[in-house]
Amino acid sequence: MNRPDDVIVVGGGIAGLVAARELAIGGLAVTVCEASESLGGRVARHTVAGIDLDAGAESFATRGDTVADFLTELGLGQAIVSPNQVGAWLKPAQGPAVPMPATGLLGIPATPLARGVIAATGLLGALRAQADVILPRRVGATSTTLAELVRVRMGQRVLDRLVAPVVTGIHSRNPDTLDADVVAPGLRTALADAGSLSGAVRSLRQSTPGSAVGGLRGGMYLLVEALHADLLARGVRIRTHARATGVTARQVTLATGEQLAARAVVLATPLGSESTDVSIVIATLVVDSAGLDDAPRGTGLLVAAGTPGIRAKALTHASAKWPWLAATLPAHRHVLRLSYNNTGNNLPEAALADIARVDAENLLGVPLAAQDVHGFARVVWPIRHDPVARRDGVWQVGEGVASTGLAAVISQARTESESVRRALTPRQEKIEP
Ligand SMILES: Cc1cc2nc3c(=O)[nH]c(=O)nc-3n(C[C@H](O)[C@H](O)[C@H](O)COP(=O)(O)OP(=O)(O)OC[C@H]3O[C@@H](n4cnc5c(N)ncnc54)[C@H](O)[C@@H]3O)c2cc1C
Repeated sequence: MNRPDDVIVVGGGIAGLVAARELAIGGLAVTVCEASESLGGRVARHTVAGIDLDAGAESFATRGDTVADFLTELGLGQAIVSPNQVGAWLKPAQGPAVPMPATGLLGIPATPLARGVIAATGLLGALRAQADVILPRRVGATSTTLAELVRVRMGQRVLDRLVAPVVTGIHSRNPDTLDADVVAPGLRTALADAGSLSGAVRSLRQSTPGSAVGGLRGGMYLLVEALHADLLARGVRIRTHARATGVTARQVTLATGEQLAARAVVLATPLGSESTDVSIVIATLVVDSAGLDDAPRGTGLLVAAGTPGIRAKALTHASAKWPWLAATLPAHRHVLRLSYNNTGNNLPEAALADIARVDAENLLGVPLAAQDVHGFARVVWPIRHDPVARRDGVWQVGEGVASTGLAAVISQARTESESVRRALTPRQEKIEP
């Protein structure tokens, strides 16, 4: 007979799977209820022109080694790779694309008068940013949003031309709505210590040296496959097509009306807060073009809001970014991944393919004719606006409470599930010999 559940985890994205694993390792009986037919949530695979590619997350932040350590525990350590170090580019709203200033954090420059910063912000913008070093350290100390902090220390141009494109690319939100302490942990403390924002960025970068992101040879979706196998081996029960409609501290109600009871419930999804009319659309093009062989825009570009004639907010030249991917492709074949905010979800697929092709042509500066396109796919990811309010007695993990990105999500899911485990496991009295 099946052991009754100690914990039900609602949501089989990375957060839910990581939590389920930690709880199972702690000796608890766990069931994961996932609404869709497959696990992984925003880490997923799709096949375009016969190539298996990431449909969602394709890399992870290397800061703190959270993700790398976890991948190593799962036996994927050997598959961890670094991206090509050619760097990314930036398309300002006006003027040609420029290489992204090499040193920075979320687009905040460590050296405001560096050539790359001047190219992106203009000399006036860079001079205003440099004023950061003579402003009193209390300026920005009480700023709560990232935008306000950057604006008061370095000026509007750095915010608009460097920080906003980077931050919007990562968080799909305007920096005016993002808490500086959440998206850039430690930055305000480092500002208080260093006395300037550029100094704070330098000190944070020194404490986390090396490439800012890593990936997996074969794709990030391999993480989901490895986690799935690991959970099955640990006896975790996995139910797909199991959409929860209600949760309480000890009970989950499924859309079918079935009720599941457990000693604890972990919510790994912003239940009920998903907005389906606002979305990130990923448009993937597989193209044949010798003009792209030299990676004319490095690993890709971030596009400043308001750039005339371009609808994409970012383009990743995936086969330039990931050498393992290039190695699987025939000569002159390339994978381009464009992301759109709320564009193309309602268009016919062919119309979006054409918009993406023309955007890619303009951004990369290389002609791409319709007959150069070997394959195309669209993936629509709904954006979640309001993170769930903590429900009484229900534990919560995942993006809604941890911020965006695998590093934040994995770290929070591990910490929170340790608290769940402690709450459910009676403390062992220490027996003195
Ligand atoms: C296009 C895109 C690219 C990204 N790129 C990167 C990147 O390169 N690097 C990075 O670090 N991060 C990236 N991210 C962010 C990263 O993917 C997420 O932060 C992370 O995957 C979120 O994991 P999660 O488990 O919290 O949520 P999700 O992945 O959203 O998982 C939630 C799960 O809950 C399920 N669910 C929803 N409602 C219910 C319900 N009622 N009952 C049961 N189950 C339910 C969903 O089906 C889903 O499987 C990207 C995100 C997107 C959309």
